[in-house]
Amino acid sequence: MALGGPDTALRRAGRGGAAGTAAAPRRLTILGATGSIGQSTLDLVARQPGDFEIEALTAYSNVELLVRQARETGARLAAIGDPAFYGALKDGLAGTGIETAAGPEAVAEAAGRPADWVMAGIVGAAGLEPTLRAVRQGTVVALANKESLVCAGEFVQAEVRRCGTTLLPVDSEHNAIFQVFDFDQPERVARIVLTASGGPFLTWPRERMAAATPAEAVAHPNWDMGAKISVDSATLMNKGLEVIEAWHLFPVEREQIAVVVHPQSVVHSMVDYVDGSTLAQMGTPDMRTPIAYTLAWPKRMAAPTDRLDLAAAGTLSFEAPDLERFPALGLAFSALEAGGAAPAVLNAANEVAVAAFLDGAIAFLEIAGVVEETLSRGPQHPIGSLDDVLAVDRTARRIAQELTKR
Ligand code: NAD
Ligand code: MG
Repeated sequence: MALGGPDTALRRAGRGGAAGTAAAPRRLTILGATGSIGQSTLDLVARQPGDFEIEALTAYSNVELLVRQARETGARLAAIGDPAFYGALKDGLAGTGIETAAGPEAVAEAAGRPADWVMAGIVGAAGLEPTLRAVRQGTVVALANKESLVCAGEFVQAEVRRCGTTLLPVDSEHNAIFQVFDFDQPERVARIVLTASGGPFLTWPRERMAAATPAEAVAHPNWDMGAKISVDSATLMNKGLEVIEAWHLFPVEREQIAVVVHPQSVVHSMVDYVDGSTLAQMGTPDMRTPIAYTLAWPKRMAAPTDRLDLAAAGTLSFEAPDLERFPALGLAFSALEAGGAAPAVLNAANEVAVAAFLDGAIAFLEIAGVVEETLSRGPQHPIGSLDDVLAVDRTARRIAQELTKR
């Protein structure tokens, strides 16, 4: 079952442990363990000794941290994406009995090992295959890897339905909507409203943004995240990707998805109902809250996050997004509208452009330009299969790479 309903496999099974019951520990796999989401997940796990055990941890190149995490958690398997680090992984875990593996296929295999819960925490379309493997083993997948839904949402969701998997959104906005969405009467939902912090350049004029450095772009005012999503937050492409993600996650029409800028990141998102009610989920900006929600679901567990103090927060403000200063958001809305290859092109071009910006090859404002140009030159045909998605992704990357070459 895809999202939510009361009769999900998990509710029927009544699996627990996370909320402090005497149930057997739940076996977890964390894809992207060394990243921001992966580390937050492991932080929660370490605070509940006995409730969880680790099946597999994966990373791309941070072998030192992966070794430390595998040793600390007693994981059964540690897999590293870049085979150049296999030697270091093996040496680091020698004598521990922890299995080691390397290469993209090893990461995908780790994702597909039997586990009760898998965190899909890899960044980018590189996470698509591992996310699909996790979905196919049919338990619970906590999904942070939004890019896999953006480029191949139909196929991910088809596998979720086919395999009876429970997909729980980790992205704070989608997790918020998931918590307040009435899945029993989706026709009574008028709109879902995603909040956006506006990123570090919310008040910057275009001229100042033109000279923005990578360090300025990744310095997010509220959230501590990986570099790619931080740049996406600065361009507002992150919100664009999230609009597409939301469309794949919730039973709403495209026109029922709205975005409002909310610089304090306290209201994580909202659902408007036909009777005029708006339900919001709030909290301090700390990803351990939505991750804890998915770890304990359908129960709740304690998370060590700062408590929300609205009196101390004082003012919460909201404003419409400025699509002129932040054209990336408009490009994402257009790609969702166009459908077919467009979202996969948008995502691939954005990944290439963000990497080029972080490398100093292009300027901040060129990111959206590269995406727009790739959308106009790239494939625009309908998508019939996962292989089509992968081909579109490759073509779009090639075009965007041409455009970012200096
Ligand atoms: P990050 O850059 O901090 O970590 C990414 C992880 O993915 C690392 O463990 C890295 O080793 C691994 N990885 C990268 N490329 C890989 C590859 N080719 N093969 C295998 N593994 C690879 O990123 P993050 O901020 O943790 O974000 C992860 C995902 O979660 C992204 O899709 C992001 O949009 C989403 N997300 C993150 C946050 C956040 O607060 N960090 C919030 C919402 C959603
Ligand atoms: Mg988000």
